[in-house]
Amino acid sequence: MAKRDNRWCLICQPRNRTLYWHQNDEGKIWCYCNKCDRGYSLEQYCDIADIDMTEFLTGEFHMQEAKADEVTAMAWPHSFIPLSDPRAEKGVQYIKSRGLNVDGDMYYDINEEGIVFPYYVENHFCGAQVRFIEPRINEDGSVWKITTLPGTRLGLLFYGWNQAKLLAQVKGVIVTEGAFNALSIQQALNQVYGGVSRCPWRLLACSGSGLSEHQAEALKGFRESGIKVVGAPDTDEAGFKMLNKMKELDCITHYVMTGDTEQDWNVLLKNIGHKELAKFVIKNIKPINE
Ligand SMILES: [Zn+2]
Repeated sequence: MAKRDNRWCLICQPRNRTLYWHQNDEGKIWCYCNKCDRGYSLEQYCDIADIDMTEFLTGEFHMQEAKADEVTAMAWPHSFIPLSDPRAEKGVQYIKSRGLNVDGDMYYDINEEGIVFPYYVENHFCGAQVRFIEPRINEDGSVWKITTLPGTRLGLLFYGWNQAKLLAQVKGVIVTEGAFNALSIQQALNQVYGGVSRCPWRLLACSGSGLSEHQAEALKGFRESGIKVVGAPDTDEAGFKMLNKMKELDCITHYVMTGDTEQDWNVLLKNIGHKELAKFVIKNIKPINE
């Protein structure tokens, strides 16, 4: 008997091959179906198609190398709803519990029950991360707080910037590790400058990937066009590592940190509020040579 070809999607069951299998940077297998127009982790795929994973893996397995510099435009998942939808109430409460208001590019995932941070390149939706409202516990006991939509190439994307030209009023970008930190500072600065259209600062997050080569190049591009680039990582080991990398790769002009290991930008916002956080950030931005 011929082995089953895994390029035929068992979910939408099209007549031709629409399924592309890949391995992500952490070695996890995922696929993208052009007909379903979405990505699945191996587990999700087998679960939705109602097949046994172990048996499925014994089939003829076609894997493709992900191209080094290519993002995938994908369809907006049906489970991602705006925060204004009454079904997103749990998400809105959670955002407020973190000292934030709902301004910014956030949605609610009604399936995973988490806050959605989408990524775009120009006008194309290219992936998302979802922060679970209730952290989950992995089998090994570790805590799992955030999941990445299969197919999202984090190292090629920024949260908060679609890699198109920035608005003319933007004179500086501030780069954090995570989306909640970026939103905390952005909301604070928008408030003191009188709205997003007047704010000269744009916040970007590099989403926990440290800092990829692509991200470093993009930041360098800002610097070279005369825009200030401020590194704003957490005040911890990973944060200092990122800051050093930013300095070494010559992609920042300034930096700012909370100076307190216990406080990331979001915790600081929760503790002192939008106005004081804005003052703190503006006052503490320092040139990298200092
Ligand atoms: Zn399909």
